[in-house]
Amino acid sequence: MNLDAILKKDDLTKEELVYLLDLKNTEDISKLHKRAYEIKLETIGNKVYYRGLIEFSNICVKNCNYCGIRRDNKSVERFHMTKEEILDTAKWIYENGYGSIALQSGERQDDEFTEFVEDIIKEIKKIGNLGITLSLGEQSYDTYKRWFDAGAHRYLLRIESSNEEIYNSLHPKDKLHDFNTRKQCLIDLRNIGYQVGTGVMIGLPGQTVEDLANDILFYKEMDIDMIGMGPYALHKDTPMGQGKEDSIEEIQDRVRYGLNMIAVTRIFLKDVNIAATTALQALDPLGREKGLKAGANILMPITTIGKHRAKYQLYDNKPCVEDTKEECKGCLAGRVKSVGDEIVYGEWGDSPHFYNK
Ligand code: SAM
Ligand code: SF4
Repeated sequence: MNLDAILKKDDLTKEELVYLLDLKNTEDISKLHKRAYEIKLETIGNKVYYRGLIEFSNICVKNCNYCGIRRDNKSVERFHMTKEEILDTAKWIYENGYGSIALQSGERQDDEFTEFVEDIIKEIKKIGNLGITLSLGEQSYDTYKRWFDAGAHRYLLRIESSNEEIYNSLHPKDKLHDFNTRKQCLIDLRNIGYQVGTGVMIGLPGQTVEDLANDILFYKEMDIDMIGMGPYALHKDTPMGQGKEDSIEEIQDRVRYGLNMIAVTRIFLKDVNIAATTALQALDPLGREKGLKAGANILMPITTIGKHRAKYQLYDNKPCVEDTKEECKGCLAGRVKSVGDEIVYGEWGDSPHFYNK
């Protein structure tokens, strides 16, 4: 295949997606990322939007085999931020011009949790003009609707892998961890009116480049507005991470595929929001900057209060655990500037795709 010719095309076949994702030569990769960045400039500009991320609880009813805060990990100290702590942080996010907030936590489906979140959303709306993204796992249609009516308008629920077999290998085989339920949640979210985000982990055991191409086709098929994807990273206290250690080559591969996924997704889907995730930085100190250069336009600075940060470790070596939210703000601003992008303060930064339909 001819790289230059493919990069000039308007639409891509699955074979071409695979070819682009699998580029390994530095010069070819640089051409791919450059083209993706050009498309970002055409559709979004050199703009980066923030979502102040509050990881407000690590209590989770699920047991995903890869995740450090899974239910059966007894070495994690569980926490739940109080309403006041969350609202104080939301106020800081607003006052610092972040424009949007992202609430993330372990998964719970009980009424107390539903009401707690509903109340928090309403209170956040009173603070000021903040966009609200939720990432609170699988819920019933009614719960999603209650949170939407309360004022949330974006929801992130990763499909983790669009290959059902891989999905099953990542999760216990029970009703709580069902691929089709997860997919249905994405459909429910769309029908309710959310801007819908999904994504996958990259570099999973058994995952091929063709699977990654299928993941991008899945985003298209599901008409997804926002993508949050990043490399899979080991956590030593999980069934998938126990007793394992990645070689440098494995880590480099995951970062390369992670960045190529951002670039190819930007080239293929064009006007969606794409996040440069913290997991990229966990495996490469310059991962998030490289993500922006490969076409990402969203960053999620961690604003979780200091005493809880270390308890929300999804994978080992999570960056920014020792930092304060003020330090994260300054650090990220420097990173964005270093790639020639510009942070847009005070705006929601909605997915253009949501409005271009
Ligand atoms: N509990 C909700 C859920 O699962 O959708 C939201 C929080 S969960 C921690 C957010 C995301 O973290 C998951 O969708 C998963 O992709 C990611 N994650 C968990 N463990 C990870 C790991 N070891 N490496 C990379 N990403 C991981
Ligand atoms: Fe819970 Fe989400 Fe981690 Fe799964 S990925 S164990 S649902 S926090």
